[in-house]
Amino acid sequence: MKLKITQFVLLVSLCNLALYHLPFFSYVNVQSGSFALCVVLGLFIFVTNFVFLFPLSFFFPRISKWLVIIFFNINAIAFFYFDSYSVILNKAMIGNIFHTNTTEASSFLSLQLLTTCLIFGVIPSIFFAKINLIPIKKKAFFSQLFLVFFLFISIAYGASTQWIGWLNKNQKMLGGLLLPWSYLVNTPRYLSSEKNQSREQILLPKASIKNNEKSLFVLVIGESSSRANYSLYGYQKDTNPQLAKINNLVAYYAQSCDTYTMAGVKCILEHKKTDKLYEPLPSYLYRSGVEVIWRTVNDGEPYIQTTDYQNQTYLSKICQEKNCGFDEVILSDLQVEINKSGTDKMLLVLHLNPSHGPRYDTKYPQEFEQFTPVCEENDPTVCERQAVVNAYDNTILYTDHILASLIKRLAKIQDRKVAMLYVSDHGESLGEDGVYFHAKDMSIAPKRQYEVPFIVWTSDNARKLKFNYSVKNGLQEDETELSQHNVFHSVLDFLAVDSPVFDREKSVFGERD
Ligand SMILES: [Zn+2]
Repeated sequence: MKLKITQFVLLVSLCNLALYHLPFFSYVNVQSGSFALCVVLGLFIFVTNFVFLFPLSFFFPRISKWLVIIFFNINAIAFFYFDSYSVILNKAMIGNIFHTNTTEASSFLSLQLLTTCLIFGVIPSIFFAKINLIPIKKKAFFSQLFLVFFLFISIAYGASTQWIGWLNKNQKMLGGLLLPWSYLVNTPRYLSSEKNQSREQILLPKASIKNNEKSLFVLVIGESSSRANYSLYGYQKDTNPQLAKINNLVAYYAQSCDTYTMAGVKCILEHKKTDKLYEPLPSYLYRSGVEVIWRTVNDGEPYIQTTDYQNQTYLSKICQEKNCGFDEVILSDLQVEINKSGTDKMLLVLHLNPSHGPRYDTKYPQEFEQFTPVCEENDPTVCERQAVVNAYDNTILYTDHILASLIKRLAKIQDRKVAMLYVSDHGESLGEDGVYFHAKDMSIAPKRQYEVPFIVWTSDNARKLKFNYSVKNGLQEDETELSQHNVFHSVLDFLAVDSPVFDREKSVFGERD
């Protein structure tokens, strides 16, 4: 088929608008209730795409055709996730995509995704590939471009004067649903923030160790764990049968700073909320003379310095546990590791990955499949919601088992005072109001994505926990919320590390004896 450049660009702009923007217009319609705004925004998207694609197609027709094909295929994938899981392509989600490993990525493949890609990506691509572009004259090009650009300015001006408040309030959501602009804008934004991350960290002021009391702090970082699914926090299903029986254990209410791994982990390891890149807790303690062991079956960690960094490959090699293929691998030879330490102060960080979607059912050994039936699909929307929740609850049951096993081992340590703190990087949505997974912008994220478990255990010989509030059955009676920044100060306090940045108020431990 032969088409003039102008016709081609009009057709592409129209198809882009019609094929991929249903989630965008559903959002605008529900949130604003204004049909007129839907029409104006539709026109604006159409005209914006035209204004950018038209010059490209005029000067580089071949390149523009191939770019359209590439964008349409990416759009199709994005559209599937928008439509099925109510996710948006903001900077956080782009970060998640960059940090998804191949196993996680392949677990998202489903028949529905492939069908959507075929209908919304491959078929339009074949159609566009067969089009022969006919050049137009320069004069026609400039006059048409001028006309559409004028339209573009007029619509932008009209919409901003009429709906500026609403547009400002909803700009993150709208930007995250526009295709292809969401990923075209947010990918460079994410990469530039990554570049900033890798720049030199600001060193914290010199710290000193105040005593030679032998102590060990075990920090366990969870993954996608919502406290709403913990029976310790009142969930009706018994997902914490083992932790519930443990003494000296307190479950605090806490919120994560953000809803995706990198931001959550950064927040757990930093001394205050900041956009700057300060030296994270493990590096700071390592530099101050504390032995720091980092064990991980996850990623998304900032650049850290430790005495020893042990990844999944290493842990699998030394594993003699029953379930080496699951997160329990992180407990391999734990006592050996602690016993061989020659220093008084020790920080052990365990970065777990037990509840990451979409295949919650693959994250735990068979014996933890207590809540059934479970969703066994890569696409949770094709399952009954209860089956998705059941599979997720089993991951919490398994987390309960890992934490309880850890505490049982720590309780046997006689020559050190020991504390364990478990906190999740962020929470998880399980299909409530059609929202799945995490990484929603904090301004619009449901509570489930940032209300996280914050559980502390101390050995009998260790300092007691400080309660600013009364505690009943190990759970705060009021709901004063801690933040992930309480971790940094609690660790310093417990290990008796003095520092100008230490904030006693933020420690969960009481006064020293
Ligand atoms: Zn995470």
